[in-house]
Parts: sequence; C-alpha cells; structure tokens
Amino acid sequence: MAATTLAIANQKGGVAKTTSTQTLGLALADRGRRVLLVDLDPQGCLTFALGLDPEACDPTLHDVMLGRVKAADAVYPLDRLDLVPTNIELAGSEVQLMARTGREHVLARALHPIRANYDVILIDCPPSLGVLTVNGLTAADEVLIPLQCETLSHRGVAQLLDTIDDVREFTNPRLRVRGVIATMYDPRVKHARDVLGDIRTRFGLEILEPPVPRTIRFAEAPGQGVSILEHAPASAGAQAYRALAEQLCADAPEARPPEAASPGAKGAM
Ligand code: ADP
Ligand code: MG
Repeated sequence: MAATTLAIANQKGGVAKTTSTQTLGLALADRGRRVLLVDLDPQGCLTFALGLDPEACDPTLHDVMLGRVKAADAVYPLDRLDLVPTNIELAGSEVQLMARTGREHVLARALHPIRANYDVILIDCPPSLGVLTVNGLTAADEVLIPLQCETLSHRGVAQLLDTIDDVREFTNPRLRVRGVIATMYDPRVKHARDVLGDIRTRFGLEILEPPVPRTIRFAEAPGQGVSILEHAPASAGAQAYRALAEQLCADAPEARPPEAASPGAKGAM
C-alpha cells in the first residue's frame, strides 16, 4: 500500500513546521513506521536538523524537481528514517517551475514511484504559499497545520485554507486537512486558549491533542540529527509529539473493524 503523505504547512515562519516534521517523523519511525521526510524549504533547515550539511548534499530535491534525477536516487537513508534533502538551490527551481505546464504536479509525480516503499511521507513546506508549497499540497493526502497561538493567527489560517481550497479545486481533490498542531503552547495564557477556540469554531478545524508546550528544550536540540525525543525524552514536548504520532497511527485500517473502513476515512499509516 502506498504511503499516507502529509504536508506540514503554514506560510508563517517560526511556527514549528520543521520541528514538527522532524519530531513526528522520528516518533512515527519509533512506532515501526517506514518514514520518508521531504525537505521542501530552500533554507534546508530540516536537512540540517537531521545532521546533514545542506550545501554538501548532491543530489537534492532541486535535481528531482528539475527532472535531472529520480526521487529514489535523491533519498538519503538515515538512522531511523529516510530524507530527500534540500539546499538553497531549490529557490532556483521555483523560478524554473513557473515556466512549466503542470508545475503544481512535479513533486507528486516524482514521489509516486517511491510511495509504496513507505508507510508515511512528511513534507516540510516553506514559509510561503508559492509554487513549492502548492507542490507539497498537491502531493499530499492530508495537511497538518502547526499554529502558534497568538493574535491574528486566524488571518494566516484563512489564507492557508483559501490556498488549500484552490489546490482541491484545481490539482488535488483528495486533499484533507488533518488538523492543527498547537505549538509553543502556554496553557497559563488565556489568550492562547481563546485563539485555539476561535480557530475551531470559525474554521471547523480539528485541534489535535495534545498541544505542544513551549519549552527551551527544543532550541537546545537541533543539529547532529538529535531531536527532543533523544535530547529530553521525558520532557513535555517529547511526550506531546509521541502522543501526536500515536494519534496519527490510531486510524490505521488494521486497528478498526473492516466495516468501519471507508474511502473517506482518515489516513492509514
Ligand atoms: P518553522 O519551520 O515553522 O519556521 P521551526 O520548526 O524552525 O519553525 O521552529 C522555529 C524555532 O522555534 C526553532 O528555533 C525551534 O527550535 C523553536 N521551537 C519549535 N517548537 C518549539 C516549542 N514547542 N517550544 C519552544 N521552541 C520551539
Ligand atoms: Mg521550517
């Protein structure tokens, strides 16, 4: 069976897209899932966080997007999961893609031949709603939206949902929003709870449980491929991502009776 593909998207920078991609990917791998991570942000932060030097990677996703190499040949096997790395060259393919017919489908088509090798593919989207993010959404079954609960979060969410609607209409009708990951969450701040409640009622989005608390342990972890799961395994942040990974796995078809499984059911991974 082909992998469930999730795009981790929010056009705002610094909301923990990359942290969520890395940490959820490792937590899913620890649950026995075969995981591929795709670094779709030219800044290469995911590549770096997994212990690779982005500038030393060759080939990268850039070569895949330009059709120079197959995705299978740009997969770097790491300790617990696989990665298609990226560096700043990808910013150049964004420009070259614009001139191409079918530009929104390039990533989906490239990943298609290797989808059967994995249970789950996580795509770390860049902080924009440009052609790269649209490629990520077109390649995905589901979107996860990391959200920092702060004033005006809802404006960004409305724009992202508009883009998701466009993708559904024009390039990927099967795309579903899996839910919001509340990141850098401080339960003592009433405002944070208000923002989440507002997002839920205004947009009908599911807020995944539990929220990921704000903790300095995340900033301590990056580099050398170490995530909070290894750096501070007992921390509330590590526990939250493990619980989110468990929830993402909970809808796997073998975990529910056959009559409950329907084509519209949530992702199996
Ligand atoms: P994005 O990919 O959306 O730009 P990042 O994942 O790079 O965001 O995170 C931005 C910064 O926030 C990083 O320095 C990261 O270590 C930090 N961070 C992520 N999650 C948390 C958290 N729950 N608590 C505190 N800091 C966090
Ligand atoms: Mg990022």
